[in-house]
Amino acid sequence: MKDVMDTHTHTIVSGHAYNTMTEMMQAAAEKGLELLAITDHAPKMPGSTHPFYFSNSSMIDRDYYTKKFGGKTRYLIGSELNILPGGNIDLSEETLKKLDIVLASLHTPCYKPATKEEHTHDYLRILENPLIHIIAHPDDGRYPVDFEVLVKAAKANHKILELNNHSLDPLCTRENAREHDICMLKFCMEYQQPIIINSDAHIETEIGNHARGWQLIEELGFPEELVLNTSVEKLLNYLS
Ligand SMILES: [Zn+2]
Ligand SMILES: [Zn+2]
Repeated sequence: MKDVMDTHTHTIVSGHAYNTMTEMMQAAAEKGLELLAITDHAPKMPGSTHPFYFSNSSMIDRDYYTKKFGGKTRYLIGSELNILPGGNIDLSEETLKKLDIVLASLHTPCYKPATKEEHTHDYLRILENPLIHIIAHPDDGRYPVDFEVLVKAAKANHKILELNNHSLDPLCTRENAREHDICMLKFCMEYQQPIIINSDAHIETEIGNHARGWQLIEELGFPEELVLNTSVEKLLNYLS
């Protein structure tokens, strides 16, 4: 299937990733992607950066880089927020307004696994935030969630759920992701909820690597029209 984008990638700013923003941009253009989003970890992730890094990002001339790297790749600058206990987040509303795309997810240094009810409750708070677009890797078995409630709330709030390619890597520390992804995708089919497949690349070689995600999509007969990776226009509709 046609796959023209990657909307979850990290640069050296995240503290545990290995390329600069411009290296990542160039690699995406060389791979022929039509869109790359740079989504560095928000400040509560150990080793990541200060909120000023994100609030200052309006100075990045996205079009300059599009031209510099061949004219075919659009660049979005965003962040992957840490969901904090209670459904709070780690960047201000004012800063989020300056970003092109905002992901939110649960990470063990920022959120100690609690109960299924608490995880679900906190996801619902995130889904009600108009400045957040994508729930990233909701498939981590360390954070059980009521997927039917999650999918229905994502649909009601016009949000995107991520199928994270890295979660499906046997080396990933997230637990039982495949089983949880299957559960999520089945509810997405039932409620017609769109998803996006992302690499979660922390190095340029992983940009656009969605192979495990697409394999699962094919296995389940998941409908292509619910996968946003096929069209930049479809994605932008969700961001607006
Ligand atoms: Zn990371
Ligand atoms: Zn993450």
